[in-house]
Amino acid sequence: MPKGVTGEETLNVYEIVKKQIADVCKALNLEPAVYEILKQPQRFLEVSIPVRMDDGSVKVFTGYRSQHNDALGPTKGGLRYHPDVYADEVKALSMWMTFKCAVLGLPYGGGKGAIKCDPKSLSRGELERLSRGFIRAIAQVIGTEKDIPAPDVYTNPQIMAWMVDEYSAIRQQNDFGVITGKPLSIGGSAGRNEATARGCCVVAREACKRLGIQLEGARVVVQGYGNAGSIAARLMAEMGAKVIAVTDSRGGAYSEEGLDPRAVLEHKEKTGSVKDFPGSKEIDNDQLYALDCDIIIPAALENQITLERARTIKAKIISEAANGPTTPEADDLLFERGVLVIPDILASAGGVTVSYFEWVQNLTGYYWTEEEVNSRLEAKMIQAFNEVYEMHRNQGVKMRDAAYMVAIKRVADAMRLRGWLG
Ligand code: GLU
Repeated sequence: MPKGVTGEETLNVYEIVKKQIADVCKALNLEPAVYEILKQPQRFLEVSIPVRMDDGSVKVFTGYRSQHNDALGPTKGGLRYHPDVYADEVKALSMWMTFKCAVLGLPYGGGKGAIKCDPKSLSRGELERLSRGFIRAIAQVIGTEKDIPAPDVYTNPQIMAWMVDEYSAIRQQNDFGVITGKPLSIGGSAGRNEATARGCCVVAREACKRLGIQLEGARVVVQGYGNAGSIAARLMAEMGAKVIAVTDSRGGAYSEEGLDPRAVLEHKEKTGSVKDFPGSKEIDNDQLYALDCDIIIPAALENQITLERARTIKAKIISEAANGPTTPEADDLLFERGVLVIPDILASAGGVTVSYFEWVQNLTGYYWTEEEVNSRLEAKMIQAFNEVYEMHRNQGVKMRDAAYMVAIKRVADAMRLRGWLG
């Protein structure tokens, strides 16, 4: 089990999500079979992938693919490359995908995969051989109508391109719909790269409207400066907000006057970190969470908002671009303290929503403009936000519980109609 941010054992996210499901099944008074089916993945595959390294040696990597539930459609979800990834984490992430797709009303179930590796220490050739080897190992269980991988932490469109190429070679035909998040020229969708961040900012903006907070000049902080975090910072600035602090895995940058997110990204691309951005002050994650601000966007890994950090939070809105960034105890405390937490299964759903658009474009062979993609994404995010917000207000429950209620009800209805519940 990996260590937590404060050094103690990290909570096992699989246990967390099981409890979330159990609580909601009880609140909705669902048949016991719903929990019994949803408490684990329908299929979990562990593979070992031998890779020829540049020095001629062979290194064997472990990979996983978890397919949680396909009642609403083929399973869908990203592939994560990370040195600390563990089997239970991949299971939990695939469960969150089921609910993320359901809350957005997408015709998908949830899946997730991972390879335990440190992608930063691999050469381009090693990364390509590893990615192709992984696809050979899981080819039997994925497919356009079966299970559709996509990018996640430390994977990108180039990796998706190698994977779709390998899968197409196995199938002896081009099969672009099997993987989303591809580069534009080989079946990718306009707007996919920005989609997770865009979705997260759209729901943050909707929350501001509901709470009567002016987005113009609102103070925003972002933890994580990868694909989701860096683009969320830029989009928030474009919407008129002031991004006052950002961090990444190596350090942070803080400025009362506001940071220029594009310039911070250029600095990170040059130096490897947001740290030491000219004109900024150094800041760590404990300080970042305690800043006087309106909106926090956690866009890094799980369990970052601990109880200790939740006690110090001054923001009014948290829009979770990462999966599982808030521990359950912290979540309860934030609710008591009146902080509106837009949960991951809603706030981070922009990526999979545009993945869905990409898949539709691949199946029909007709490609949309970026404006079309963005306006359809926005419409879907607003609709899902409104459904969850109404549930939260009407039932007097946390936004997270409301999102789970909407999602689990949809999955349970599908399972009932398919005859899985007896
Ligand atoms: N990895 C992203 C997520 O966690 C996107 C998944 C997808 O596009 O299928 O939502």
